[in-house]
Amino acid sequence: MNEKIISGKECSKQIKESLKNKIKDLDKRLKLVVIRVGNDEASKIYVNSKRKACNEVGIDFLEITFRDDVSEEVLIDKINELNNNDEVTSILVQLPLPNHLNSHKILNTIDYKKDVDGHTTINIGKLNNNEEAIIPCTAAGVIELLKFSNTTLESKNIVIIGRSNLVGKPLIPLLLKENATVSICHSKTANLSEYTKKADIIICAVGKVNLINKDMVKENAIIIDVGINRLDDCICGDVDFNDFNNKVSKITPVPGGVGVMTVTNLLINILKCYEFQKNE
Ligand code: NAP
Repeated sequence: MNEKIISGKECSKQIKESLKNKIKDLDKRLKLVVIRVGNDEASKIYVNSKRKACNEVGIDFLEITFRDDVSEEVLIDKINELNNNDEVTSILVQLPLPNHLNSHKILNTIDYKKDVDGHTTINIGKLNNNEEAIIPCTAAGVIELLKFSNTTLESKNIVIIGRSNLVGKPLIPLLLKENATVSICHSKTANLSEYTKKADIIICAVGKVNLINKDMVKENAIIIDVGINRLDDCICGDVDFNDFNNKVSKITPVPGGVGVMTVTNLLINILKCYEFQKNE
């Protein structure tokens, strides 16, 4: 086993074992309801992996599907019905939604205490205000992996590449909370390598094969590769794992790294939703 590899599979296994034990002792069954619109094949695969993860730890799972011409009103009515149903712990609207639907409005209909993906404005505000919040699963997964690999974050120079609401932005408050020094880069950043060369830790969440190369990172840096790129014969991340292996001190593989943690953090968030509702 290569000791440089930060294994999402190993980390996830440990978290799931502990979750299973917590969940079986609760006073009620946990239930995730996923709303999926249309026939997007990737969405079907993602929903199935969420179903499987729920089954593994004993969480009930229900998928509700709509045709891709469903109206905003119908979706909002369904979400309100689920908000008011005590048997439903968490609600997830699988993205992307078809263009005629206002995703922001639909996601914000979810009760923040059932907002398992942490997409609502209330959860985003709480996260940025250092209050207890439901944290977007991938960003939370990145932090779990760094902790699992015993990486010290305090005073580290961390560069995030990618500023999406799902990954890059929520990582800013999470890393600041750990006393890291954080820079965030994006498609309009001039001279990306100036930032990456100084970084102790690089978190790459862009979706471009070989976005950064070996010459752009310093010796013994840590690389967290969030990117998922589907090539003809394989899936890979944003950095060339084999090329980097000799230079860095730790690196996450794709697959088997951050992706696994995203689904695992969904399970953590379902339990958090239960706790939010219990404490209200
Ligand atoms: P996104 O919303 O498309 O955001 C991509 C970000 O990359 C944007 O901020 C964009 O900048 C930036 N970017 C694009 N080209 C760049 C360049 N040449 N240099 C620097 N920055 C550049 O994507 P996302 O949803 O965050 O996902 C990013 C990647 O992570 C994708 O491959 C996705 O599949 C993967 N992902 C993985 C998981 C997981 O579980 N492992 C979860 C979510 C996403 P602008 O803002 O300027 O456009």
